[in-house]
Amino acid sequence: MLKQVDAIVIGAGIAGSSTAMQLARQGHRTVLLDRQEFPRHKTCGEFMSPETKEMLEVLGINLLGSRVKPGIMNKARIILPHGGEIEAPLPGHAVGISRYELDRILHQKAQNAGVEIVTKTRVKGIRKLDNQVYEVDTKEGDREVIYQARAVIGAFGTKKPRGIATASEETRDETVYIGIKSHFSGIDVPDQVELYFCNGGYIGISPIEEGKTNVAALLTLDAVQGSGKSVDEILRSAAQSNSTAAERLAAGTPVPGTQVSIAPLRLSDVPEPWSEFPHVGDAMLMIPPLCGDGMSIALRSSLLCAGWTDKYLKGILSYDQWQRGYTDAANAEFTRLLKRARRIQKLAFAKTNRLYPGLARIFPGLAKYVVKATRLSETGMAR
Ligand SMILES: Cc1cc2nc3c(=O)[nH]c(=O)nc-3n(C[C@H](O)[C@H](O)[C@H](O)COP(=O)(O)OP(=O)(O)OC[C@H]3O[C@@H](n4cnc5c(N)ncnc54)[C@H](O)[C@@H]3O)c2cc1C
Repeated sequence: MLKQVDAIVIGAGIAGSSTAMQLARQGHRTVLLDRQEFPRHKTCGEFMSPETKEMLEVLGINLLGSRVKPGIMNKARIILPHGGEIEAPLPGHAVGISRYELDRILHQKAQNAGVEIVTKTRVKGIRKLDNQVYEVDTKEGDREVIYQARAVIGAFGTKKPRGIATASEETRDETVYIGIKSHFSGIDVPDQVELYFCNGGYIGISPIEEGKTNVAALLTLDAVQGSGKSVDEILRSAAQSNSTAAERLAAGTPVPGTQVSIAPLRLSDVPEPWSEFPHVGDAMLMIPPLCGDGMSIALRSSLLCAGWTDKYLKGILSYDQWQRGYTDAANAEFTRLLKRARRIQKLAFAKTNRLYPGLARIFPGLAKYVVKATRLSETGMAR
């Protein structure tokens, strides 16, 4: 079956849903495709910086006014393996809400804007025809559907669909990580995000809705060898090298059905805003999660990309201007941010005895950086 639309967005996470929502609001017939069924749990610390909240408000989403009451944080604490602690206030309130709820809210808004959301659909191939129309092959169960559109947006997260070329030689770091997440009940986190450094990575603990707690970790794949296979086993094994984290986890009970993981995971060396079409979110840039910037970047790239794509679809820009314009804008916006986040990640993964002085020096600024580096109002995008 062949379906023709104006724009196809591949991946219905935070980046894809928000891009599709904006394109539909700009008057374009938009289809949003995802291989998963929603709502679904997603590997994420679920910590939303004040800027992420601000960007959602630009999109007409007020998390604090929604039926789900998110966790609120105003402080960050780092707990080192041998007990040292660093604490800093967050400039503004951060919000903790599960991706199960957040992505559900985004889908509802996208649908209200007129987006056709097609889930349980895997994208198998994408090609550009001579007349600058893209063709996307999908499989929905046994049904094969081909979509045609003048614009395709890649919002497929860290794993590219098969056959998509990489713009430059290599855009991702060599170190291979695993990301894991579980919700817990019974862990009392007082209005703060806690980061525990441990062998091979870090564990974040923060409040989300309904008094539940998010526990997420980024660990090198090497470090988890022999830790067991389940998310719970890997978490508890990682926490053995940080006794405060182990005590925290021991106080709680994992919420069944919320355990997810992603591997292999590689962080970006450089942003990749374009391959054969524009990318947004993790498809464009996988930033070290330590700074809690991923969702903010997903939203920021979607705001940028929707703006450039709208002008292309309305005939104001040529294809080349669309490609160059978005690529240059995204590189200008995200390259420095990525460099800073990578420096911080390097410190976090340095040997423990070298870690403390470095982190103590940067940490009071780190909490501020998380917010400052992504301040939307300074980019002129907030209206
Ligand atoms: C351990 C960890 C902790 C993190 N903690 C935080 C945090 O606290 N705060 C923060 O801001 N960020 C955090 N992040 C980063 C954040 O989760 C990501 O930046 C964000 O989810 C990116 O959103 P996205 O929409 O680009 O990708 P995703 O949310 O991954 O969405 C991509 C979607 O594309 C779909 N898809 C992929 N391939 C195909 C295909 N071929 N066909 C159809 N559909 C496809 C997938 O099913 C998926 O739903 C963390 C990340 C990790 C790994």
